[in-house]
Amino acid sequence: MTERLLSAIDQRRDDLVSLTVDLIRFPTINPPGEAYTPCAEYIAMRLRKAGFGIKMIRAEGTPGDSDRYPRTNVIARFDGRSSGPTVHFNSHIDVVEAGEGWTVDPFGGEVRDGRVYGRGACDMKGGLAASIIAAEAFIATYPDFPGAIEISGTVDEESGGFGGVAYLAQQGYFSKPRVDHVIIPEPLNKDRICLGHRGVWWAEIETLGSIAHGSMPFLGDSAIRHMGAVLNAFESDLYPALDRKTTTMPVVPEGARRSTLNINSIHGGQTEDHFPGLPSPNVADSCRAIIDRRFLLEESIDEVKGEVVSILEQLKSNRPRFDYRLRDLMEVQPTMTDRDSPVVQAVAKSIHEIFDREPQYVISPGTYDQKHIARIGHLYDCIAYGPGILDLAHRPDEWVGIEDMIQSAKVMALTLNRLLLGQD
Ligand SMILES: [Zn+2]
Repeated sequence: MTERLLSAIDQRRDDLVSLTVDLIRFPTINPPGEAYTPCAEYIAMRLRKAGFGIKMIRAEGTPGDSDRYPRTNVIARFDGRSSGPTVHFNSHIDVVEAGEGWTVDPFGGEVRDGRVYGRGACDMKGGLAASIIAAEAFIATYPDFPGAIEISGTVDEESGGFGGVAYLAQQGYFSKPRVDHVIIPEPLNKDRICLGHRGVWWAEIETLGSIAHGSMPFLGDSAIRHMGAVLNAFESDLYPALDRKTTTMPVVPEGARRSTLNINSIHGGQTEDHFPGLPSPNVADSCRAIIDRRFLLEESIDEVKGEVVSILEQLKSNRPRFDYRLRDLMEVQPTMTDRDSPVVQAVAKSIHEIFDREPQYVISPGTYDQKHIARIGHLYDCIAYGPGILDLAHRPDEWVGIEDMIQSAKVMALTLNRLLLGQD
């Protein structure tokens, strides 16, 4: 029977390629959220033809949603002949902008040398196409299967997922009893299982000063110099402390296998935006820095915030006139799905079956939509698994390998075998 399933996927090779090409040709650039509705409608049409029930869900009122740029999501569901678990494949349909340096049309879907090229080819329209082919081949091979298969095309992952998976999770689309197992076909390489991601704390630190003429800085108080003191303290105390923190999380690349802190931006002094070309003449009364702190399962969010607060408080007591504000922008807990959980076991065995080797287990340095499924949906049997090479994502001449998609689709189909039919 397995042979029939695998050959059903081989027979769909041309279909898989043209599906991927079609998806790439929708320029679903985010921001602003271009072409979401036609892309979602295309997926709906395709899956309706395959017998899926379709729901189109606009995330009204979420960031970026407007009549010009509606946040249109699609969820397709195929109920089997009898009751059983539901396996859900979730892919984001948005892509980042093409940028410079392309040698092919980023939205042309060029097929060459066994690859499909285009923005979103690997991240993650190739993965979406592979999951559709896997599901269609599985349904055709086992029309009497128990349980259900869902496939969703969701928006805004590249900008935080608020109008996509987060919104749908709030509506109950990513919770039990509706869904039991979730696979997110992000490009983590065809023989790797991504169990989760590190945690995130984004915050804005503002140092405060008082404005004065730039020729008499002693009459004012420079918020930029205060921020300099914060950065110095980060360099001398915080960065070395972060470097010492290691983790049992198998984060890739290895450089991310510790706590990290990035200073995403700094804006100090009077803004020049209002008077382009005119430099600010004053002592800065405000300086704002956005920090991006990535943390580990071994750390708590309170501890993470506490480190920064204690540096700021120390400055406040030691440094004359130092004052600050701290504003939380985002926090996401780290997550790592248990290796013994059903979806990990099923995908691991299927990878073994196709590639004749053990899968590699990894953790993503950054977050993706799994965070919403865990935090809002309270569904923890979730991983990222899909074709495509992660390093190609967001870069010029992005591509996905056709054979990689075929092999990944086979892993996905065998996973359905295991999770729905109980084959071992
Ligand atoms: Zn992605």
